[in-house]
Amino acid sequence: MLGRVPPLHLVARDGPVTCPWCRDELAGGPRCPACAVRYHAECAATFGRCATLGCAGALGAAGARGAPLPRLAALADRLAALRPGDPPPPTDARVLLLLPGQGEVPAAAAAAVGEALGLTPWEGRQRLGSSLPEPLVRVDGADAAAGLAGRLRAAGARCLVVPAAALLRPLEARQAHAADPAAARVDDGRGWGALPDPRLVVTGLRVEVTTREEVSPALEELDGVARPRAVQRRTTEPVALVLGRDDDAPLLLRRDALRIAGDEPTAHARWGRLLDAAREGADHVHLPTSASSLLSRRSIGPRGARDDLPAILLAARAAHLAWRAGALGAPKAAS
Ligand SMILES: [Zn+2]
Ligand SMILES: [Zn+2]
Repeated sequence: MLGRVPPLHLVARDGPVTCPWCRDELAGGPRCPACAVRYHAECAATFGRCATLGCAGALGAAGARGAPLPRLAALADRLAALRPGDPPPPTDARVLLLLPGQGEVPAAAAAAVGEALGLTPWEGRQRLGSSLPEPLVRVDGADAAAGLAGRLRAAGARCLVVPAAALLRPLEARQAHAADPAAARVDDGRGWGALPDPRLVVTGLRVEVTTREEVSPALEELDGVARPRAVQRRTTEPVALVLGRDDDAPLLLRRDALRIAGDEPTAHARWGRLLDAAREGADHVHLPTSASSLLSRRSIGPRGARDDLPAILLAARAAHLAWRAGALGAPKAAS
C-alpha cells in the first residue's frame, strides 16, 4: 500500500572517501574528467588513467613534460595496493629512470631534473644523488619520452626510458623455502632449481613494524582500570632478491623463512654462505639501508603496519630493468 511518502533528504555520505588506486583516505585531489571520481594527485600522475571499471578517463595528462612520480617507497605503496583486475598503464606510456653513479652532479643536471619534476634544482640534486635507479616521471608516448631523456642527458644526467607497463604493475615475488649454498640451488615451492645465470642479486634489510593494543599492567595497578595502549613491534630481516635476465618476478630469499643446508653452526652463518654463493659471478646491488628511511614514504598505515618489502621489490625491479638494458654495472645481460 502506498501511504504518504516522507520528504526525502539527501545528505553527504559520512566517513572517509578513498582513492580508487591506492585505497587510502582522500581529502581532495583531481577528479576523473569522465566519471568525476576523485584521486590523490600522486596516484593520478602515476597511473594516468581512471581505475573505475569501464571508464577510460585520462588523469594528469603527462604530455611532453611528463607527470612526476612519487619517490620509490611511496610509489611502492601504490603498486602494493593494485589488484589483479586493475587496468594496466597505457601501452604508449613510458617511465624515465634516473640511473645511479652520477658522480659529481652538474648544476645543469640538477636543474633539468628539478624542472622535470616541477620542483627546485635542490630536489633534482637529491634524486641524482640516489644510489639506486629511481623512477622520475611518466611520459605518454615514446617520442615525448625520448625527447625528455635527450634533454636530461644533454644536461649531464644519466637516465633510461622503460615501458610504464614494465614498472607500474603489481609487486610480486616467488619466495624460496629452502636453499643449498654448496650447489647454488634453491627450492621455490615448485621444486629445486639452479640460480639463473647471468643474474642480478639485490640485497637489503626488510623492516616490519606492527602495532597492537595491549593493556598496560602498570596503569591497571594504579587505578584498577584497564587501558589499552598501542605497542609497536619492530623486526628486521636481511633479504636477497635474485633475478635472471628474463624473470618478471624475483626469487625472494628471506633469512628467517629459509631452511639453509650447511654445517655452519648458526642461521646467520649459513645465510652468509648463501649470499656468497648467490653473488658469485653475479651483478650485485645493495640497498644502502632500509629502503623506507632512504626513500621517503608515507607514515605507518591505518592498520598500524609498515613493511619495507614493497619498496625493496620495486627498487629491485627498477635495478633489474636498468641491468637488463646494460645500464647498471657490467652489461652481462645486454642483448
Ligand atoms: Zn591514491
Ligand atoms: Zn573515470
